[in-house]
Amino acid sequence: MNRITELFKIDYPIIQAGMIWCSGWELASAVSNAGGLGIIGSGSMYPDVLKTHIRKCKAATNKPFAVNLPMLYPDIDKHVETILEEKVPIVFTSAGNPKTWTPLLKENGVTVVHVVSSLKFALKSEAAGVDAVVAEGFEAGGHNGRDETTTLCLIPMVADQISIPLIAAGGIANGRSMLAAMNLGADAVQVGSRFVASEESSAHNNFKNRVLETGEGGTELTLKELTPVRLIKNEFYQKVNEAYEACANLEKLKEILGRGRAKKGMFEGDMIEGELEIGQVSAYIDQVKPAAQILDDMLNEYRVAKEEMTSSKFDF
Ligand code: NDP
Ligand code: NDP
Repeated sequence: MNRITELFKIDYPIIQAGMIWCSGWELASAVSNAGGLGIIGSGSMYPDVLKTHIRKCKAATNKPFAVNLPMLYPDIDKHVETILEEKVPIVFTSAGNPKTWTPLLKENGVTVVHVVSSLKFALKSEAAGVDAVVAEGFEAGGHNGRDETTTLCLIPMVADQISIPLIAAGGIANGRSMLAAMNLGADAVQVGSRFVASEESSAHNNFKNRVLETGEGGTELTLKELTPVRLIKNEFYQKVNEAYEACANLEKLKEILGRGRAKKGMFEGDMIEGELEIGQVSAYIDQVKPAAQILDDMLNEYRVAKEEMTSSKFDF
């Protein structure tokens, strides 16, 4: 037991990240059933779709699960209403000010966690009264911070300065990186990319296969002028790059991005025109596995790595 397993009432300190178009009720319930914390990614769901997913998740597991609420979401009030009506026990807020929704959620008995990419926002989150913080480094897929602070630098900095529980994210996809993150001061890890390539993920198979094929240097954090995002270097990314080379302004970048690119790529499987959000760890993900096996493999590797720490190679 540690502060995070106690806070969420889960068996293992492994949290599956809320990911648009990838983490619906099937993935979230599979992870929760396996003893971790599953999260429904609500950023890509219309209000009625979120309600369906919450209800299906409740029917598929009696373990705690969470909803990720990106504050950029246009109909956020409706999502919050659904979350309260459906009595979702835990909410991970992201991409916005933690002061906005934390008081209302907490008044209604919801455990609130905020996702940040810097020490500055971790401190703001603690001051806003959240129960825990996810600190996500530069390696992570999808939305990210502008400062490019890596997980290795971010976690010890945040761990030293906050007193609430800390969840490390970004670049964590196996038991060794999990142990390293815990050693850096985290109480738990949040894992995204590894779960994109799970059987229960709602990502299109083309995207899952593309993740398996992606190697070292296959992703980049780009579009910082809009919302910074780490994505696969496909044809759409090349178009963005050409625009940068031609010194495109903000309007031009927005025009190239258009609307619904993430859905096109990750959900509909268009590998050319779609936006394919994934972390650097895609370089060593080489198999689609059931979510429970991903969790199990991580825990086994974590235990072996922890045992190895007692070997003489670490004695100085
Ligand atoms: P269900 O089995 O109830 O429904 C899956 C639905 O998704 C089917 O109607 C299927 O349509 C449709 N679908 C499958 N592939 C695509 C695609 N490439 N583009 C558009 N629609 C597609 O599963 P769920 O309970 O998981 O889903 C309930 C709702 O949630 C659906 O509306 C689904 O689209 C949506 N959803 C949204 C996610 C998000 O992140 N926003 C993630 C997962 C699902 P058909 O069988 O006719 O092909
Ligand atoms: P776009 O503006 O390009 O497209 C909006 C997408 O969201 C469409 O595909 C649309 O589905 C779907 N959608 C769901 N609900 C609504 C709604 N109420 N109004 C309009 N569209 C809706 O945005 P993105 O795809 O880039 O991002 C969507 C959301 O996901 C944002 O809230 C963003 O903050 C969040 N996000 C979170 C990330 C994370 O890491 N957690 C990463 C990237 C984005 P349809 O096409 O069926 O109309």
